Amino acid sequence: MTEGKELRKLGEFGLIDRIARQLSAGKGVVLGIGDDAAAFTPSPGLLSLVTTDMLIEGVHFDLSFCDPLSLGKKAVSVNLSDIAAMGGKPRYFLLSLAIPPTMTLDFLDNCIKGMLQRAEQFGVQLIGGDTCSSPGPLVLTLTVLGEQSPDSLVRRSGARPGDQVCVTGTIGDSALGLRLLQQGKRLDNALLRHLDPVPRVREGQALAEAAIPSAMIDLSDGLLADLGHILDLSSVGAQIFSEALPLSDIFREHFPTVTEEALSLALAGGEDYELLFTVPPEEIPKVFPLLDKLGTRASIVGIITAERKLAVIGPDGREIFLHRKGFNHFTNENKT
Ligand code: ADP
Ligand code: MG
Repeated sequence: MTEGKELRKLGEFGLIDRIARQLSAGKGVVLGIGDDAAAFTPSPGLLSLVTTDMLIEGVHFDLSFCDPLSLGKKAVSVNLSDIAAMGGKPRYFLLSLAIPPTMTLDFLDNCIKGMLQRAEQFGVQLIGGDTCSSPGPLVLTLTVLGEQSPDSLVRRSGARPGDQVCVTGTIGDSALGLRLLQQGKRLDNALLRHLDPVPRVREGQALAEAAIPSAMIDLSDGLLADLGHILDLSSVGAQIFSEALPLSDIFREHFPTVTEEALSLALAGGEDYELLFTVPPEEIPKVFPLLDKLGTRASIVGIITAERKLAVIGPDGREIFLHRKGFNHFTNENKT
């Protein structure tokens, strides 16, 4: 069928109905899709969290190499990752779609299928959204609502000198995956980390509930840029040790020696969706058993300093200067 024709036939309300029919009654949902606003019952005594993230074709994804199912999953994952970074539990989400006229129904069906699969994996319900045509790119805007006990909220501002800097999983794989995709490679395990990152929701909640991190953030723009936000808001600095960076076997296959290029990908490539958190020294022994129980690797990659400077330290104890600092939409850094 001609591109976009099925969608025109279905129309806005047909599409909304098509989405709504796939949903089951959600816990706590009083009104889901179909009214002017959704209504849900908040859990007593808990704070409500809300976060939104846009994914724009040509900025965040390239339709020539991302499949719709993974794109849908990723759209949910990047939003859940922000709730994870607070230590919260995601509950509901809203989905706003701006759809170009050429979009096929098959693509949309698969994209929404991916969203609902990832949402179900984390117990999150779709409760509403907005649907519009777009004269330009495909835009997916998700808003996630979560909840959390007021005393387990982990801010970016709590890092103190002497705290250890920790990170879950491995870093750099997504940036490596993107580079390989841009080079036309379609079969490499690194691609998966770029196309379908899995948010560290359980890890964030477990760390926050155990009151371990003094500050936490998710890695979306690259470790240096994201750690920079913690440092700014906490009025501290940090030293990161290049030898301590958690690099996957796949990453090491591509970079048997850690060149400056490898370090740039790992520290400034972005889209890792791991959690970066700072931990007072006395809490450190609790980190590893706790994340181990969830099957997640944790690494200490540096230390918070009183001097307000972020330095990467090489194996010889000298500072390494990296050209790339992390993703910034307006300076176009990291665009290759
Ligand atoms: P209004 O004109 O009042 O904004 P809409 O026609 O935009 O209402 O939406 C009708 C219902 O469908 C609302 O409950 C809205 O939340 C829901 N909805 C619209 N688009 C989406 C979407 N892409 N995903 C989920 N729910 C949607
Ligand atoms: Mg609307």
